[in-house]
Amino acid sequence: MAPTQNPISSRQVAVIGAGAAGLVTARELRREGHSVVVFDREKQVGGLWIYSPKADSDLLSLDPTRSIAHSSLYESLRTNLPRECMGFRDFPFVPRGDYESRDSRRYPSHREVLAYLQDFAREFEIEEMVRFETEVVRVEPVNGKWKVRSKNSGGFSEDEIFDAVVVCSGHFVEPNIAQVPGIKSWPGKQSHSHNYRVPDPFINKVVVVIGNFASGADISRDIAKVAKEVHIASRAREFDTYEKISVPQNNLWTHSEIDKANADGSIVFKNGKVVYADNIVYCTGYKYYFPFLETNGYISNNENCVEPLYKHVFPPVFAPGLSFVGLPGLAINFTMFEIQSKWVAAILSGRITLPSPDKMMEDILAWYARLDALGIPKRKTHKLADFQCEYLNWIAKECGLSPVEQWREQQAIRGFQRLVSIPETYRDEWDDDDLIQEAYGDFARKKLISFRPSYYLESRR
Ligand SMILES: Cc1cc2nc3c(=O)[nH]c(=O)nc-3n(C[C@H](O)[C@H](O)[C@H](O)COP(=O)(O)OP(=O)(O)OC[C@H]3O[C@@H](n4cnc5c(N)ncnc54)[C@H](O)[C@@H]3O)c2cc1C
Repeated sequence: MAPTQNPISSRQVAVIGAGAAGLVTARELRREGHSVVVFDREKQVGGLWIYSPKADSDLLSLDPTRSIAHSSLYESLRTNLPRECMGFRDFPFVPRGDYESRDSRRYPSHREVLAYLQDFAREFEIEEMVRFETEVVRVEPVNGKWKVRSKNSGGFSEDEIFDAVVVCSGHFVEPNIAQVPGIKSWPGKQSHSHNYRVPDPFINKVVVVIGNFASGADISRDIAKVAKEVHIASRAREFDTYEKISVPQNNLWTHSEIDKANADGSIVFKNGKVVYADNIVYCTGYKYYFPFLETNGYISNNENCVEPLYKHVFPPVFAPGLSFVGLPGLAINFTMFEIQSKWVAAILSGRITLPSPDKMMEDILAWYARLDALGIPKRKTHKLADFQCEYLNWIAKECGLSPVEQWREQQAIRGFQRLVSIPETYRDEWDDDDLIQEAYGDFARKKLISFRPSYYLESRR
């Protein structure tokens, strides 16, 4: 829909979260002329990129009374995307500041991502909008506006009225635990990757890691450095899979999924192999969770599908007063946060209009029908990896923005292919220098970097 000629209005907007999504949302809202308050439980910006050795008090994260750690980072974590395609479009994730004290690798450590987000917040003076150590405990619609209740570290609680609320609270805190037949009587220790930090608790243990995507691949190899044996259970593999993976300790295997866990400590895989294990680590992903949101049942979360949401952002009945930035799972997250938040900001000001609630519902149902026709289950409603540029370019067009750069899309695709085919080395071996060159050329043309485009590649040789 084309931008309208409506007068631009400024709104009072609450943003929940000062992670990557909340930071760029705050910037875009302010750029559009809105007045913004960002709430965050933490003491600093960065969201899940703030590493803490502390984990949840319940390592499976099932106990509702547990103390909760927001971050899911492990000490050894490096990005799973090349930095050029990971950053915001107008503030590239290039090596910055004092080169020596920063991590200039193409797939840097989590510390470098936090430093980048801190640079971003400083550059665009975001911190002045943030109320740190302030948790939003309730958000509800009241007479066309939004009541936000928050509490700070002193226990103080207050209600405030906003014209709109943008939810940027992340979705990597509430673990999804795979169902293993017989697990209730299995005597070993269980934990979720959300609570994995370092391999030390697994010294000389026999460990089963369930899940073999980005975190599972990393964590199994991290644990293999100190464990006696590590066995990966992968639902994506054929039932007879049994492969030894080459690691220096010679102690890592991939299996098909688990058939059964038994009271004698054994784990039986569908390939027929039996392992007596001390630990299970679930690398089985996360669930959407918005405990503060009270919409009288209008917004529901069934099978990890938050609905109804127009373009995964606006619940039709509450649009544009309530929106979500950062909900879909796709590779180029930060680009998505930037594009979605520009859209939300422009819709709130009246510069762009949304279709009627009925039309938005029609669009949502059409998306469900498309997923259905492709055989994609409901739990993958927000997994847009295969549609990411189609999705982002649709919103970009609404906002009058240029489409996602081809080099960015290609870097993400080729990075993903390397992650799957060479999980041990994909961060340090690549064959897409041409795409790096293109990215830096693009940054230079847009005057986003102050060094020669070839400098990064030359300095890496
Ligand atoms: C282990 C792991 C590795 C990843 N690696 C990569 C990667 O390499 N590259 C990549 O692009 N993406 C990666 N991701 C994806 C990740 O989603 C994004 O990088 C992104 O940083 C998430 O940003 P966010 O702002 O949506 O959420 P978060 O960073 O989680 O920020 C949400 C913020 O909201 C605050 N908050 C939540 N609830 C409340 C409340 N009620 N009141 C107040 N504040 C609240 C939290 O304190 C937090 O600061 C990874 C994810 C995980 C789990």
